[in-house]
Amino acid sequence: MLAGAMSVSIPTWLLYLFVGVLGLTFGSFATVLIARVPTSESLTTRSRCVHCAKQLTWWENIPLFSYIALRGKCSACGARISFRYPGIEVSMLILFILPLVLLNSWTAVILWQVMAALGLPLSIIDAEQHRLPDLLTGCLFGVSLLIIIGDAIHWNHFDRIAPSLMGAVGLMLFYLLLLIISRGGMGMGDVKLSASIGLISGYFGIHALLTASFSAFSLGALIGIGLMLIGKAGRKTAIPFGPFMIAGQLISLVIYAH
Ligand SMILES: [Zn+2]
Repeated sequence: MLAGAMSVSIPTWLLYLFVGVLGLTFGSFATVLIARVPTSESLTTRSRCVHCAKQLTWWENIPLFSYIALRGKCSACGARISFRYPGIEVSMLILFILPLVLLNSWTAVILWQVMAALGLPLSIIDAEQHRLPDLLTGCLFGVSLLIIIGDAIHWNHFDRIAPSLMGAVGLMLFYLLLLIISRGGMGMGDVKLSASIGLISGYFGIHALLTASFSAFSLGALIGIGLMLIGKAGRKTAIPFGPFMIAGQLISLVIYAH
């Protein structure tokens, strides 16, 4: 079971229920981020049906349950609601529950969940539009930094701050070099995202940082070759790298914070 700051014991089922609801909520928020951040739309206005523009009522806006209650159709125009909404919500639910099973410290669990809450929308935007919006990579870095500082203060882990910051700067310089060498294979979005990866993995040590990077490049190569084999990509196809960097970071957490 998870060790760490929590000395109050809550029943396991209640913890999973709470984290599950949290996951669905962040999943729902992720669908809003994916739809609105790339076009700089407001994040606070109510959601509308993409077909008839009917404003959703609160009960039509409950993650997953509304989709089931409405049987996947808009209550006004009857148009099919895309499966991506419940799909993303359930994916986030799974991503929020997984670290409770896989990781052994609350700091690692929360870092994973932050990485999931922002990393899933970042991955989908990168896959569909080949960009990683500054707002999301910036939030990821800021929130991760706060968690790391909080952990360092709570556990007296000040010796891990320097490797963490060095990881952020070092990995950014490495990706900047790749951006220059690859001439368009990497983007500035990847460089900015690498700061968070370096920061988080660096906090768990140099091996965690190397594992996060090695996993990202291995996964990227594997999927790239796979896409070429099934004819979905050519030698010149730009494959977004953000999703692999995020997946690599999660793998590194499983190995070094288990
Ligand atoms: Zn409608």
